[in-house]
Amino acid sequence: MPSHDVLIIGAGLAGQRAALAAADAGASVAILSKVHPVRSHSVAAAGGINAALNPEDTWESHAFDTVKGSDFLGDQDAIEVMCREAPDEILHLEHIGVTFHRSPTGHLGTRAFGGASAARTYYVADITGQAILHVLYEQLMKHGDTVDRYEEWFTTRLLQDEQGNCVGAVARDIRSGRMEVFNAKSTILASGGAGQAFKPTTNALICTGDGIAQAYRIGAPLMDMEMIQYHPTTLAENGFLITEGARGEGAHLYNAQGERFMEKYAPNKLELASRDVVSRAEQTEIDEGRGFPDGTIALDITKVPRKRTLEALREIVNIGRDFAGVDITREPIHIRPGMHYIMGGVKTDVDGQTPIPGLYAAGEVACVSVHGGNRLGANSLLDTLIFGRRSGAHAAQRARGVAMPSAPYSTLTDAQAEIDEILGRAGSGGRRVSEIKEELGTTMNKYVAVFRDEAGLATAHEVVRRLKEEAPKAAIDDKGTVFNQDVLAAIELGYMLDVAEAIVVAAQQRKESRGAQFRTDFPERNDADWLHHITVSRNGVDVPTLGTAPVTITRWQPQERTY
Ligand SMILES: Cc1cc2nc3c(=O)[nH]c(=O)nc-3n(C[C@H](O)[C@H](O)[C@H](O)COP(=O)(O)OP(=O)(O)OC[C@H]3O[C@@H](n4cnc5c(N)ncnc54)[C@H](O)[C@@H]3O)c2cc1C
Repeated sequence: MPSHDVLIIGAGLAGQRAALAAADAGASVAILSKVHPVRSHSVAAAGGINAALNPEDTWESHAFDTVKGSDFLGDQDAIEVMCREAPDEILHLEHIGVTFHRSPTGHLGTRAFGGASAARTYYVADITGQAILHVLYEQLMKHGDTVDRYEEWFTTRLLQDEQGNCVGAVARDIRSGRMEVFNAKSTILASGGAGQAFKPTTNALICTGDGIAQAYRIGAPLMDMEMIQYHPTTLAENGFLITEGARGEGAHLYNAQGERFMEKYAPNKLELASRDVVSRAEQTEIDEGRGFPDGTIALDITKVPRKRTLEALREIVNIGRDFAGVDITREPIHIRPGMHYIMGGVKTDVDGQTPIPGLYAAGEVACVSVHGGNRLGANSLLDTLIFGRRSGAHAAQRARGVAMPSAPYSTLTDAQAEIDEILGRAGSGGRRVSEIKEELGTTMNKYVAVFRDEAGLATAHEVVRRLKEEAPKAAIDDKGTVFNQDVLAAIELGYMLDVAEAIVVAAQQRKESRGAQFRTDFPERNDADWLHHITVSRNGVDVPTLGTAPVTITRWQPQERTY
């Protein structure tokens, strides 16, 4: 059985940054990913990463914008940490080889992003995530002596000892089907988001909420789960993202009547208001009949000089051409709000610690909560790196004072029995995993989207409960051991259903409108009753238990939020 000081589940930006920090602190590290690390979803991040690095900017301004963007639900101690440490993180990335855009004077160049009072988004064209991920991967290879990479390994569950400490995980080698127990003194979940619980989504097929559900299943509380970000500019058919960088570079939004409608909703920031505000404005235009017949509105990138678009937004030039048949340098492209990001996740402190000793979480799987009710664009990459690094360092430090656990052999046989049960299912008869997943995704997108109400949320909950009953009987065709995606999809479906239920019950619970949660039956923000986090935990049975956690306010009292 492999044994390491620190086990990291997930090799996107949060996981790789955590691995490097833990290795730098002298720990032996294992990093495990269900896809090759550079195919982790962080590779899709386009527009950039925020930091108040410019001498005229301040971390306090970045922090206030983040607090306001969160609709005052973000924890200000965590936001202060993230924004204060951001400039050094960008410089560190630059020093290890990330080729950030430079201005004509040779300085690191920025672009404007939504909800920010200064242009503080650093970027590499519109492939920022890819650029950072590849540089971190080079660094991981350099640390080959202390960091063992388990690429294309799928974690199926977390392990706990009798005292409740997290002591590692069980994983399946996807190439051979072999199950293995990983003992670890500290375990860091860095397994990303859960966008696939919605359809469409901007998220890749691998974003199935595995870590959120695995932590939830062993009793870790989830927090802010009702806060689901709909990004203002996604393609209607497939959910592909048109980066906020386009609006940052000067693109405008128009309704079908040719009105630049953001003048009504956010007269100061217009298209660069925060995402929840822009998505709601778009959806209102569409719902009130001012959209195009295909349920969209128009994003006009021809406002950006063509040369600049070809240089700084080349990926979305390709996406427009290949997936919408539109040359965005010459004509507007039709877009609409689409599911993009989960603000909630496994509750942690600023060092990534969850309430379960030995279990950490960082990145999109976690909720520290720096995003609160609404994440500002380009703050997620920052979140992954700052709290990935802090988790790695803390987990390594914890490991120094803990004996190496050793899971009993029965752990492995139990885990194998779970897989055998799935393989033993009939190949026909029951609904297919993909059909159940489709119903889940379309239901969430219908009832748990930009606008919500009690009746819709109750319907969504009923559907999720029914799908939870159907999922364990879903048909499995592939009975093999090599790259058996049928088995993995069945396991992922269970994770998505757990995550979806937590989202729905939290959204039902919050009877107000704040950030990304707009309740048409409770349209106002209500600080008197709802200025707190909602937590969701599972205590042994498959029924979510709701709780609350206070919002940490350090210096910015809630105020009216206008853009
Ligand atoms: C299209 C798009 C563009 C974006 N652009 C930006 C941007 O410009 N700026 C910004 O700040 N944010 C952006 N975001 C958000 C940001 O990219 C993500 O929130 C962030 O990259 C998540 O990183 P992560 O390390 O937490 O997870 P991921 O990068 O998703 O990595 C998750 C890792 O966990 C592994 N994993 C998952 N489950 C298992 C399992 N069961 N077993 C083993 N391994 C597992 C995966 O293989 C993967 O390695 C964008 C998001 C999208 C969808």
